[in-house]
Amino acid sequence: MNDVKLAVLGGEGTGKSALTVRFLTKRFIGEYASNFESIYNKHLYLEGKQLNLEIYDPCSQKAKCSLASELHWADGFVIVYDISDRSSFASAKALIYRIREPPTSHCKRAVESAVLLVGNKQDLCHVREVGWEEGRKLALDNRCQFCELSAAEQSLEVETMFIRIIKDILTNFKLKEKRRSSGSKSMAKLINNVFGKRRKSV
Ligand code: GDP
Ligand code: MG
Repeated sequence: MNDVKLAVLGGEGTGKSALTVRFLTKRFIGEYASNFESIYNKHLYLEGKQLNLEIYDPCSQKAKCSLASELHWADGFVIVYDISDRSSFASAKALIYRIREPPTSHCKRAVESAVLLVGNKQDLCHVREVGWEEGRKLALDNRCQFCELSAAEQSLEVETMFIRIIKDILTNFKLKEKRRSSGSKSMAKLINNVFGKRRKSV
């Protein structure tokens, strides 16, 4: 069984818990406890594979932390902002930059993490502060997927969004596997070249 670890990050009150709970239960519950962090588990069958999905929904204070452990833990990220709150867009931007920071040599990733930027609370578009184009541009410039939706009003869209990021994570798993096996093949070739030649010269 494949383990897929997904972190839902973003500013306080952007709807991280609402989106997570909507995906898991198809329900919208107005208020969620925000003072503790949760890891939810869900079994999924996708692309012929049995998946054990873990979703990390941080508590509000945690959003301000260094993120180092989340970056290390997660295979992919959903970054949430609230389209009616410009400051939440700035937080999302900072998070994306942090995720896309060039890796330090000791924690190099073979494949870039999958990231999906979500403009939540689309039902509040009459008080919109962040344009659709702005969100899309931030995502495009940083190799992220993008969508706008409403955890309050849309169940199917929320599900589609989660499935999209999970599929991207699975694609990355395949890429990593490919690189690993071609890496070990070229290592075998190298060893063969070096020792093969030596044997000949003895
Ligand atoms: P979190 O701090 O990011 O986990 O945010 P919550 O999920 O706790 O949501 C914060 C507030 O925004 C709550 O009052 C939710 O009811 C509300 N909320 C979440 N999603 C939506 C949405 O799509 N539309 C509207 N109008 N309110 C939402
Ligand atoms: Mg929350």
